Amino acid sequence: MSNGRRPLVAGNWKMHGNLQRAAELATAVSRGALPETVDVVVCPPLCHLGAVAGAISATRLQLGAQDVAPWVEDGAYTGEVSSPMLKDAGCGYAIVGHSERRGLLAENDATVAQKFMAAQAGGITPILCVGETLAEREAGKSLDVVGAQLQAVIDAAGISAFTNAVLAYEPVWAIGTGRTAAAGDAQEVHQHLRCLAGESDATIAGSLRILYGGSVKPGNAAELFAQADIDGGLIGGAALQADDFLAIVQAAANT
Ligand code: PEP
Repeated sequence: MSNGRRPLVAGNWKMHGNLQRAAELATAVSRGALPETVDVVVCPPLCHLGAVAGAISATRLQLGAQDVAPWVEDGAYTGEVSSPMLKDAGCGYAIVGHSERRGLLAENDATVAQKFMAAQAGGITPILCVGETLAEREAGKSLDVVGAQLQAVIDAAGISAFTNAVLAYEPVWAIGTGRTAAAGDAQEVHQHLRCLAGESDATIAGSLRILYGGSVKPGNAAELFAQADIDGGLIGGAALQADDFLAIVQAAANT
């Protein structure tokens, strides 16, 4: 991490647990040592947002959603939740374009860009995920793939939208697999993403926070976060254990 960017660590709880577990986990994290210098966000399942908001109120922990509707105005969109609704529920962030949604639910770059813009229109900061599959990495296409995913959102939303956004590089082959990108390889991708954004606006690119996600654990967080263009992490599995998540937050504070 460098250049005065404030580190951010976000926990993506995915579709795990029940209401009681969500409240307990949120309470345990919020009672841990949360350094002043790091933004710490938890993203529970939608139906647990209310309980988690209650558990973390009056703490430094912030709330995020795992997804957001691509529409802002109220309407006939069964099953969808808009950014104003998320804001009402206490969210400040929403993950968009997670590889599980791209892969399992066929979300394409156009949908992801729409969600990114819809999040911002409702006052929510999007955490835009990009990442290549194993086949794409092995074919030497990592930089092209993540670059195209980012460029699609820059083209749709404009670079100025990135003054209030977070980017997350999440190699698909590293998510939930226990296989982490080597710190130097992750740095190469992060640098590429920052350079690409910099072609549109160097100042915005310089202050854009780019998180790494993909099997981040207490044991590898420090080395990843020490890289010049890695500004924190998007954490899946390790976010489900308060001690592990807090250790990762501490690693972000120490680098
Ligand atoms: C994720 O869910 O975005 C993620 C990075 O998961 P994990 O940390 O388990 O790889």
